[in-house]
Amino acid sequence: MSGRRPLVAGNWKMNGLKASVAEFGRITAAYDAALRAKVDLLVAPPATLLSTFAVVALGSRVAVGAQDCHSNGAGAHTGEVSAEMIADTGATAVILGHSERRSDHGETDALVRSKVEAAWRAGLTAIVCVGESNAERHAGRALNVVRHQLAGSLPEGITAANMVIAYEPIWAIGTGLTPTIYDIAEMHGEMRKMLVARFGAAAKGVRLLYGGSVKPENAAEILSVADVDGALVGGASLKADTFLPIARAYL
Ligand code: PEP
Repeated sequence: MSGRRPLVAGNWKMNGLKASVAEFGRITAAYDAALRAKVDLLVAPPATLLSTFAVVALGSRVAVGAQDCHSNGAGAHTGEVSAEMIADTGATAVILGHSERRSDHGETDALVRSKVEAAWRAGLTAIVCVGESNAERHAGRALNVVRHQLAGSLPEGITAANMVIAYEPIWAIGTGLTPTIYDIAEMHGEMRKMLVARFGAAAKGVRLLYGGSVKPENAAEILSVADVDGALVGGASLKADTFLPIARAYL
């Protein structure tokens, strides 16, 4: 037993209108006592739904998270949302450095690091995403790429409460492809070693999620890998019928 409580987190990306609140209600309703005893559940809707989801989640123990934040607390940054604003909605976590943010918005490791510091300033848990491209994996560079991203994206001071890390190979996101169980085990084992080497004992409690085409059909196998402490789920998190079975792999 690692002592780490598993976490299954859903990233809704740019999906969800007011009508989706009912689906989130189905997720919170299905998070029953048996699941609550075994696994944490989190949903990260678009920013427009954060406040509503936070209210719906009250009493259910499903956590609500955002998908990005600005590094400043407030100011002249048109269109941006700060960590303080996210915390103000009742959300308790924020996904940072997702590969879609890194590619669509040119986010660097240094920027992700400053956003982690902003998240902590606001009392949020940071869920930092790392992962290699298809070309980098085929060039045998996956471990080095992830090592570099972790080194650049994480500030000093990580704890089991303020940090979650998601290994998301870019080529596995939304494609239906997944690495082999051996490759996931190797990456997660190496990530744990890198974190312990830099941060010491605190890194042993930090949860390492796998993300990339996790579905009810492959969840049990992936989640049974050592040092995989849960999943970050995109497409399958949009419906209670596909999200909850992933969490139920822990029952
Ligand atoms: C993601 O984008 O974080 C993700 C894991 O997506 P999917 O599950 O759809 O591959």
